[in-house]
Amino acid sequence: MAIKQLTVLGATGSIGVSTLDVVARHPDRYSVFALTCHSQVELLAQQCRQFVPRYAVTSDKDQATKLQQSLADIPTEVLAGPQALCDVASADEVDMVMAAIVGAAGLLPTLAAAESGKRVLLANKESLVMAGNLFMQAVQRGGAELLPIDSEHNAIFQCLPEGYDHFDRAGVRKILLTGSGGPFRTTPLAELSAVTPDQACAHPNWSMGRKISVDSATMMNKGLELIEACWLFNVSPDWVEVVVHPQSVVHSMVEYVDGSVLAQLGNPDMRTPIAHAMAWPQRIESGVSSLDMVAAARLEFEVPDEQRFPSLRLARQAAAAGKDLAAALNAVNEVAVAAFLQGRLAFPRIAELVDQVLQQWQGSEPNSIEAVQASDQMARQKATELL
Ligand code: NAD
Ligand code: MG
Repeated sequence: MAIKQLTVLGATGSIGVSTLDVVARHPDRYSVFALTCHSQVELLAQQCRQFVPRYAVTSDKDQATKLQQSLADIPTEVLAGPQALCDVASADEVDMVMAAIVGAAGLLPTLAAAESGKRVLLANKESLVMAGNLFMQAVQRGGAELLPIDSEHNAIFQCLPEGYDHFDRAGVRKILLTGSGGPFRTTPLAELSAVTPDQACAHPNWSMGRKISVDSATMMNKGLELIEACWLFNVSPDWVEVVVHPQSVVHSMVEYVDGSVLAQLGNPDMRTPIAHAMAWPQRIESGVSSLDMVAAARLEFEVPDEQRFPSLRLARQAAAAGKDLAAALNAVNEVAVAAFLQGRLAFPRIAELVDQVLQQWQGSEPNSIEAVQASDQMARQKATELL
């Protein structure tokens, strides 16, 4: 079996680190072609020493120069900037790209991987939310293999029949998209305006980057995942039901017309979906421990409280409206979450800001990536004005 060459976009983040943990377990299967990072250059340097990639990419040119000097004794070449991200995602030598940059910054390199026909391991859900139609066309055109890393979508993928192309033909009745409800599932509503970034990032089950942790606390993450599921599995939003499941053991379910419900279960550890998507259709060790069903004991399921989690309704509306509404929703959410993390915006204002911008949003069908980027910029500008 030929060794697969992997580029990890966002290698220093939570998903990037878990990916490299899986890679390190299988040196006979995977080798690292490129690693990229935004600001944690020291960690990137360590990773380069361990995996000796052909390329390392930083966002900033000065950082790249320093990193190149510190790596003088290994053959890794250091590049900088957004074009370099696209280049290492689309290089001929590359077989697989882990798309694990957070937010809209991940769009272009993820798209480059799709256009050039790679196996795209998609963690960066924001790129599908922003540009779902264009992204799926790029996957088709490039002949890419799109495999979901998001644990819910990976679970759904595992519960669908092999070669699945359409819900009706596969006999699917609906998708049950599970979400934990985050750290504030039972916090009195009146206390939400005083919660801190650290409280919001203290997820009860998952350890993740700060942006997605805040999204989990507002449940905008589940809203973005609803949109992600519609594109990945070619369905409209009414096929997808969100279910709150505080234990994060069932990662999502698929219900069939005969009444069967298939679920994928496991410990909440992203190395499972990462290893699944990397090796698919085979199975490999991920380092994740066995699920102890007896210790888990109780699995609970609830209807999401839309008063507590208005982001869910906003995302569902954007998904149903189509056009560039999801791109606008995503952009305003990124601005609002960043402001909350900097202590400039109260937690309940995140969803309010999204609502305010979307209520005034005209909406147009984006026919190019430039148009998506223009919508993204316009929504950011409107959100910043309202802050
Ligand atoms: P993180 O914040 O831990 O890491 C983000 C990575 O992106 C870092 O390597 C950082 O250097 C890089 N990055 C940030 N801004 C950048 C920019 N402007 N240009 C280039 N690189 C940049 O985030 P994470 O938790 O690993 O999440 C990554 C993606 O995976 C997100 O889209 C998230 O929604 C998705 N995801 C994460 C998890 C999880 O468990 N962490 C689960 C499902 C999906
Ligand atoms: Mg998820």
